[in-house]
Amino acid sequence: MTSSSGALPPVPEFALHPNPHPVPPDARAAALEAPRFGAVVTDHMARMTWTSEDGWLDRRVEPYAPLALEPAALVLHYGQEIFEGLKAYRHPDGSVWGFRPEANAARFAASARRMALPELPVEDFLASVRALVTVDQAWVPPADDASLYLRPVMFASEPNLLVRAARRVEYVVIASPAGAYFAGGAAPVSIWVAQDLHRASPGGTGAVKTMGNYGASLASQAEAYRHGCEQVCFLDAVSGRNLEELGGMNLVAVRADGTVLTPALDGAILPGITRDAVLRLLAADGHEVVERALPLEEVLAGLASGEVTELFACGTGAGVSPIGRLVGHGFDARVADGGVGPVTARVRAQLMDIQHGRAPDERGWMVRWV
Ligand SMILES: *Cc1c(COP(=O)(O)O)cnc(C)c1O
Repeated sequence: MTSSSGALPPVPEFALHPNPHPVPPDARAAALEAPRFGAVVTDHMARMTWTSEDGWLDRRVEPYAPLALEPAALVLHYGQEIFEGLKAYRHPDGSVWGFRPEANAARFAASARRMALPELPVEDFLASVRALVTVDQAWVPPADDASLYLRPVMFASEPNLLVRAARRVEYVVIASPAGAYFAGGAAPVSIWVAQDLHRASPGGTGAVKTMGNYGASLASQAEAYRHGCEQVCFLDAVSGRNLEELGGMNLVAVRADGTVLTPALDGAILPGITRDAVLRLLAADGHEVVERALPLEEVLAGLASGEVTELFACGTGAGVSPIGRLVGHGFDARVADGGVGPVTARVRAQLMDIQHGRAPDERGWMVRWV
């Protein structure tokens, strides 16, 4: 519950250094009114520091503020960095919950191994997000479909120009109230298919959340905007023929017979937690779920013949987003009924109802934070 006294609640594992100048309540309320994704941050951040001599140290929650970083910090030169994205949801009774945060903690550890960063123990990951949500609980928007987006990030802060793993690393969690990711809310989005540039390759880093993947996607994302599309979908780097995923979301196709198709996790695709949840919900609803390569040609032919009836993207940021158009050099394929298909709408509602506490959580996905 929101504390009305102004005193911040205790967070046992973390030393609390309260922000002496928090955003005033009325300004905060205005920021929570219709939050745009990623535009505003809360009053605090959770932090830990790692050194090769002493391991993880100095668990603390402190005022959100710019970081002091040496220009020689390794991350600025060689990109040794990983991040996560998860949300805190306010339920109708005012309590605040996380969705499968242990899956984010496990993926963060997998990302750390791939990027030669120190693994953050799962308990520290979970305690850090819970500490920040507890301290900044007044920033979790009231019920409905908004949430507080949490962004843990770990990066090489050691000043050194050698190309090797850092001996000093910072871990920071920040939070940002989130409404709809896309300006159009749940309206179907248009997807540009990048045919020249790739985001990931076998043996590369496509399966982990590390900054380079996203930097590498931005030219294609800019190309998508130029063609009037909200997002870009990448093709596999080996054959150049198979749809893989969007810059930050997984891709799912629905066939007329109810079968659900999605690219298999082949090492170049990010294993989305939303993807996993959606596939389980669809399977429980009686859909056959097939994970395999998804050729662009097959999807375009299926859209033309009516064999493919729905396409959607999914990820924590935007949830389940219907796709209305697939556009690229030489094609502009429309999804039936403008993209507002029943399978997408149903699984989107099912997932949101669980996350926002409007439906029973039969799988034990939700964790109470406040
Ligand atoms: C984060 C991300 C996803 C979605 O993962 P979720 O766990 O569902 O949020 C999909 N693709 C990419 C490239 C991502 O970075």
